[in-house]
Amino acid sequence: MEELLSDAAGRAIRYLDGLDGRRVYPAREARKRLGELDIEFPQRPTPPEQVLATLDEIGSPATVTTAGGRYYGFVIGGSLPATVAASWLAAAWDQNAYVSVMSPVASKLEEVALRWLVDALDLPPGTGGGFVSGATMANLTALAAARHAILSKQGWDVEAQGLFGAPPIRVVVGDEVHVSLLKALSMLGLGRERVMRVPVDGQGRMRAEALPALDEATIVCIQAGNVNTGAVDPAAEICDAAHRAGAWVHVDGAFGLWALADPARAHLTAGVNQADSWAADAHKWLNVPYDSGLAFCREPEYLRAAMAVSAAYLQQSDQREPGHYTPELSRRARGIELWAALYSLGRSGLADLVERTCRLAVRFADGLRQMGFEVLNDVVLNQVLVSFGDAERTNKMIGALQEEGTFWAGATVWQGKTAMRISVSSWATTEADIDRSLEAVKLVAAKILR
Ligand SMILES: *Cc1c(COP(=O)(O)O)cnc(C)c1O
Repeated sequence: MEELLSDAAGRAIRYLDGLDGRRVYPAREARKRLGELDIEFPQRPTPPEQVLATLDEIGSPATVTTAGGRYYGFVIGGSLPATVAASWLAAAWDQNAYVSVMSPVASKLEEVALRWLVDALDLPPGTGGGFVSGATMANLTALAAARHAILSKQGWDVEAQGLFGAPPIRVVVGDEVHVSLLKALSMLGLGRERVMRVPVDGQGRMRAEALPALDEATIVCIQAGNVNTGAVDPAAEICDAAHRAGAWVHVDGAFGLWALADPARAHLTAGVNQADSWAADAHKWLNVPYDSGLAFCREPEYLRAAMAVSAAYLQQSDQREPGHYTPELSRRARGIELWAALYSLGRSGLADLVERTCRLAVRFADGLRQMGFEVLNDVVLNQVLVSFGDAERTNKMIGALQEEGTFWAGATVWQGKTAMRISVSSWATTEADIDRSLEAVKLVAAKILR
C-alpha cells in the first residue's frame, strides 16, 4: 500500500506541477491514445502499480486541465489544495455517509460544514440541508421539499400517495431558467413544460412586475447567477410578493449563491436569503472536487419528510442523519471536502475567492473591450460574454482559440447573439493567466479576423 500510494502522490504532484505548461484542452494525439484503454476485459488480475501507471500514462495527457488557472468553460471550478489533500485521506477512509452510525466523522463534518454555510451565506438560522452530487440533484431535492410542503398543507401525502389525484401545484420560472431546474421538475412529476414562464430583462433577470398572481400552491423558482450573464433575479421583490401570497420561493444558486458570502456584492444578492429553499454547487465556485452540491431548506422538516425512507424511520435518532436529507442512501462522504474548503478559506478567504474571480472577470472583459470586441453582459459576477462579430466570426474565433490551447472557453447564444462565454471560477486563476489569455485572443484574432 505504501509504495502504491507514494507512487500515486508522486504522479499527482507531477501532474499538478505540469499544469501551467500544458495546453488546456488535450491534444488530438493524447485523445487518440485513449484507444489503448479499449482492451478486452482482462482474464486475470493486473497489479495495482500497473493499473495506476496505465491510468497516468494514457489518462493524464488526455485530461482537460480544469485544475489549472485557464479553463473558463461552462462554470467549472478547480479544487482548493486543502480539498485535494482531504479527498486523498477521505479515499483512504472509505466512509459511507448514509447514517451517523456508519461514519461518526462524516456525519459530524457535514453538521459542522452545514452550520458554517448557513452562517457564511447568511441563510435563516435553523436552515437545514442535504449534501448531494450537484445543483441538478440539489434542485430536485429542494423542490421535493417544496412539493411536500405545499401538498401536505392540503392534506395530501405525496410521498405515500404520489401525484395521481393530487391537488395541482403551479410552478413559475423565469424565461432564462436553467435546464437543470426543468430536469428536476420533470423527475418530480411536476413537468418541464407545464411551468409558467416570466419574461426577463436584457441581463436575463426575471421581471418582478410580470409575475402572475401567486397562491399557496405555487413554487416560484428564481435564479442567483444566470449561467450566461451571472445576473441575479430581483429576489427581495419576488420573495415579498410570493410570501404575501403564501407561495414557496426556490433559488437555483448553482454558482451565484456563493456571492452571498461576499459583503461587497450584498446589493446584488439582496433578498436571496429570504427564499424557502436553495440549491448550490460546491464543485463550481467553492472549488471542491467533484461531485458536490447542496440543497438547503429553511424548514428542514420538509426536506426530511421528502427524503427520509419512511415516516417511521424518522423516529430513530435525535441526531441529524445525513441520509434523511438526500435522495441517496449510501453515498460518499462529500462533506469532508466541503468542510476542508470552508476551514481552509475562513470567512475572509471565501469572500476573497468570490471577489478575486469577479475582479479577474472584469479584467478579462476590459481587455477584450480594449481590443474592440463587444462584451454583451454587465460583468456583475464571474461571467463574461464576448462577441467577435457575427455568429460565423465568433464561432471561428472560439474554434481557433480552443485549438490554440492557451485557454478554453465555449460558445453560447445570448438573447439571439452568438458569444464566447468566459467563466472565471477557479481559485487557481491569476492576473497573469488572464493576461496570457488576452494575449492569445490578440494573436488568434490577428490571424482569423483579418
Ligand atoms: C451548473 C448549473 C446547474 C447544474 O449544476 P450541476 O452541478 O451540473 O448539476 C444548475 N443551475 C445553474 C444556474 C448552473 O449554473
